[in-house]
Amino acid sequence: MFLTISTTGTPERPATDLGFLLHKHPGRAQAFSTSHGTAHVLYPEASAERCTAALLLEVDPVALVRRGKGKGKGRGGAPDSALAQYVNDRPYAASSLLSVAMSTVFKSALRGVCTAMPERAQSPLPLRIEVPALPARGGAELVRKLFGPLGWASVEAEPVALDVQFPEWGDSRYVRLILEGELRLADALRQLYVLLPVLDDAKHYWVAPDEVDKLLRAGDGWLAEHPEQKLITSRYLSRRWGLTRQAMERLELARLAESDDLDVEDVDNAVDETTDTEERPVPLAERRRSAILEALRAAGAATVLDLGCGQGQLVQALLKDVRFTGIVGVDVSVRALAIAARRLRLDRMGERQADRVTLLQGSLTYTDKRLTGYDAAVLSEVIEHLDLPRLPALEYAVFGAARPRTVIVTTPNVEYNVRWETLPAGHVRHGDHRFEWTRAEFRDWAEQVAARHGYGVAYAGVGDDDPEVGPPTQMAVFTRTEPKDRNEAKAA
Ligand code: SAH
Repeated sequence: MFLTISTTGTPERPATDLGFLLHKHPGRAQAFSTSHGTAHVLYPEASAERCTAALLLEVDPVALVRRGKGKGKGRGGAPDSALAQYVNDRPYAASSLLSVAMSTVFKSALRGVCTAMPERAQSPLPLRIEVPALPARGGAELVRKLFGPLGWASVEAEPVALDVQFPEWGDSRYVRLILEGELRLADALRQLYVLLPVLDDAKHYWVAPDEVDKLLRAGDGWLAEHPEQKLITSRYLSRRWGLTRQAMERLELARLAESDDLDVEDVDNAVDETTDTEERPVPLAERRRSAILEALRAAGAATVLDLGCGQGQLVQALLKDVRFTGIVGVDVSVRALAIAARRLRLDRMGERQADRVTLLQGSLTYTDKRLTGYDAAVLSEVIEHLDLPRLPALEYAVFGAARPRTVIVTTPNVEYNVRWETLPAGHVRHGDHRFEWTRAEFRDWAEQVAARHGYGVAYAGVGDDDPEVGPPTQMAVFTRTEPKDRNEAKAA
């Protein structure tokens, strides 16, 4: 398996910068042992004008089989014969292996990380990528369909003849692929990382649930809008329909969250009741964070989940207080998480701080084992972003499955909307709010949730409490009154 990445340059921006972006020096050939064999990175050409990096994977069939018997097979526990059969039947169709090798060898480049030249890593480069023999179920036509919408100036996919001596034998299942255009290197790599195994359509390892996360991470920025999203998702996940459905739903949510431009707090920040003082009014979002922090301290929580953490403002505030020893931000939007990571300077954080904080991508409408064992969970301005029919799924995932001792939920009080001068009558505060509740509606929901899952609930307001319409934000603090394993005990 073989692939080359070329770029052109000028004396000011030499093509050899590719070496920095790939984190692999153009001056030497390097070999990396991966779980399936040895990956070589070498540069057939490296001048200021033109630079080409080649990734070559020597598949080690023994390692492949061994790995199949060991932990690499994944939690799903695929029967050994599935893998052995693959090795016997199709020893050279290794494009998903190449993709795995890419993720090892070009790990930082895939993430778009380059400390030496951060701005080059973020800007498009003239790129030419060639895969001389790409196994492609669906042929050249599908290859064009998959790469066509991804911003390349030219996508050349030529079927490779089975044998050039005997054209009448027809084409092999291989396609010679050449992509040319101006793209960010990380984007190009992430496309290949997903689409090589999709075209190969013979994933060599058992698909574990975290494959959905990998797919969504690598698909960030292009998969949500791709016309062949369904085919890509289902093939990538080896047609495991449950996972495929989950991935597609998360893509849809991510798309919505993304269209939900980044001014979640605009309305909240714009208007505040304390404007008659000379000082800067405290934006509602900030008051909300203070109220949440207070409630967490009062509950004695040390480990906290910020569910739907958005761009990480609360995570940042939590980090400032040493009593919070474990802080996890969860969001469905990869973009929001990327902004959160930047805000927190995760990459430059000292080890001790970094140990306290984790950002996870995930959807709150699915139970998630990673969310168990925490003292408290916060849902700050999140529930109103879900379609009402999905709310019971979130309720179950948080109160039924994760079951932290304390759950804090905030949401707008719709009665207060008449007090926002900038808000036209009958409008919700944000384009992506699926509903906004009155105080009675919120309490009604909270009482039911508490009763169903064995929690007590207390209410508070955030922002100035208007005598007629109440406070702008309503908050409920749930405290678990029944054992953590209540549901299991019931089931038994
Ligand atoms: N908690 C933050 C952000 C609120 S905006 C704050 O108080 O400012 C709502 C956030 O919920 C968005 O970041 C959105 O991406 C996230 N979100 C919406 N639906 C979600 C879901 N099903 N799973 C996880 N996060 C979700």
